[in-house]
Amino acid sequence: MIPFLDLKGINTQYRAALIEACTRVIDSGWYIQGNEHKEFEKEFAAYCGTKYAIGVANGLDALILVLRAYKEMGVMSDGDEVIVPSNTYIASILAISQNNLVPILVEPDINTFLLDPAKIEEKITSKTKAILPVHLYGQTCEMSKINAIAKKHNLKVIEDSAQSHGAYFEDKRSGNLGDASGFSFYPGKNLGALGDGGAVTTNDEELASAIKALGNYGSHKKYENLYKGINSRLDEMQAAMLRVKLRYLDNEVEKRRGIANYYLQNIKNDKLILPTLRAEDNHVWHLFAIRTNKRDELQKYLQENDIQTLIHYPLPPHKQNAYKEWNNDSYPISGQIHNEVLSLPISGVQSLEDTMQIVKVLNEYK
Ligand SMILES: *Cc1c(COP(=O)(O)O)cnc(C)c1O
Repeated sequence: MIPFLDLKGINTQYRAALIEACTRVIDSGWYIQGNEHKEFEKEFAAYCGTKYAIGVANGLDALILVLRAYKEMGVMSDGDEVIVPSNTYIASILAISQNNLVPILVEPDINTFLLDPAKIEEKITSKTKAILPVHLYGQTCEMSKINAIAKKHNLKVIEDSAQSHGAYFEDKRSGNLGDASGFSFYPGKNLGALGDGGAVTTNDEELASAIKALGNYGSHKKYENLYKGINSRLDEMQAAMLRVKLRYLDNEVEKRRGIANYYLQNIKNDKLILPTLRAEDNHVWHLFAIRTNKRDELQKYLQENDIQTLIHYPLPPHKQNAYKEWNNDSYPISGQIHNEVLSLPISGVQSLEDTMQIVKVLNEYK
């Protein structure tokens, strides 16, 4: 079976360096917010090109804390609206709801799967305070258009970069394309920890300082609490793992680009619709999602041919039980995407033979 993602294989490449990093943490005697955490924050900010990176416990918390910090800063308050793509992973939307803010769903472009800038302005009201573009599957949204709309209406732009570590838009990287950005280091992401992890990047000093405090019981200074904060910290061991893996992130992305280009050039079957790539460096191919109107049949066919695929995602957020209030609303483009997408195997350890076999099997599909 060709696996969708060989996580063990990915981490085995760095086994010796990861063990050395573990040993360093054990021997340091300091396990929360120590040197590894501090150094990773510096290194990740430098990678993204931002002034600040703040390590947090996971990607969902990264987004929750950005919105929470804006509330503490008086930028937004309960009941305000945040624009978010209707086809995103549910976490982007949960971050909004959990802050007592109102998610306003906007449909994506069917070809790129990304928030459609042309559909944003009609959803802006006097309560709108932010746009939360999601660089879904690893390709950055059209940030020049989104930032222009935000500027015109005085809105914050909060990127969801959970799938787009390292992707560029023009001359800047994901994480440095808006006012703040949330990252996830869930093991399966392009930059994955060996457990949970996340970060916020920003150039805004006040925001960075508020987030740092909010994730540490609301405390700037030990035993002094400015806010009713939470405990959401990137742990020392995961920071050490991430410092190792960050050094190889560009290499991982290059390998993914090689596979994606091979798919784009060699999959030739008029039953299958390939994803639209805007520019080579805009996409880091966290996922390579194709579309077909008989998706479940295609998945079964690939399974029978020993190729594992996944669906990102089977059910759109507005059809989830968690958002019952939206169950009768209609988001036809999202609906179509959720019925038609299938993610092909892709990763830095996938062999050329496996990639060629996948293409061969897809081209023989009738
Ligand atoms: C993975 C993911 C998240 C959440 O990250 P966690 O670390 O799992 O909390 C948020 N948004 C998107 C688009 C994701 O893919």
